[in-house]
Amino acid sequence: MPEKLLYEGKAKKLFTTEDPGLLRVEYKDDATAFNGKKFDRMEGKGQLNNAISIFFFEYLGKNQIPSHFVRRISETEQLVRSVQIVPLEVVVRNVAAGSLSKRIGWDEGRELPYPIVEFYYKDDDLGDPLLAEEHIRLLELATEEEMQELKKKGLAVNKVLRPLLEQKNIRLIDFKLEFGLDQNGGLLLADEISPDTCRFWDADTGNKMDKDRFRRDLGGVTEAYREIYQRLTGDNL
Ligand code: UDP
Repeated sequence: MPEKLLYEGKAKKLFTTEDPGLLRVEYKDDATAFNGKKFDRMEGKGQLNNAISIFFFEYLGKNQIPSHFVRRISETEQLVRSVQIVPLEVVVRNVAAGSLSKRIGWDEGRELPYPIVEFYYKDDDLGDPLLAEEHIRLLELATEEEMQELKKKGLAVNKVLRPLLEQKNIRLIDFKLEFGLDQNGGLLLADEISPDTCRFWDADTGNKMDKDRFRRDLGGVTEAYREIYQRLTGDNL
């Protein structure tokens, strides 16, 4: 069976493979923000995000947090398990920033007393709004058990990644995860973990090393992503 393009998102393309249980993900050089209103192409971003995502998925796998990741295919591609994506963005926060700062009036950079988890609705037409658990029930986007499981898994990822990043002198401010249901109905970590989906600040200077450089026109976007890769792996890309 020839491969076919299953889905094209803002930063990735998803292809079928000969194995119905596996998909090929291609990371693109496109950068978008504000629901696609801001757009640019950044040479090398796809390669960096593919490599950084692979690093995080492999590290989480070694720490008893499995994901959809199967293996690297090329500089910009990886093989993943096919799952049915839950239409929720699971955001974990350690420090106030972005939409949380706007919503509750806490300055960006203010440490939260404990990590929190929020759910956002993956719906471009609605602009990915924050959802209360009541809304998730109402829309039947996840069961009660799944909601608890998503929170637990989000916090577990945070527990593994926060100390790792601290060792690399990176402050993990917040990040977004997506999960999918596998054939047995189990929730599996999916999508990507990269500077596009996390906020990383240099622990000493507070410099932003993530997509906020693009969102806020700070420049040096791919340079910052490259620095993240270098600190994580010790290698240059
Ligand atoms: N995030 C993401 N995709 C989205 C929205 C947010 O990956 O569609 C990430 C974002 O990079 C940050 C975290 O989720 O690490 C929290 O984002 P926030 O709610 O503060 O939204 P923003 O300020 O980016 O609109």
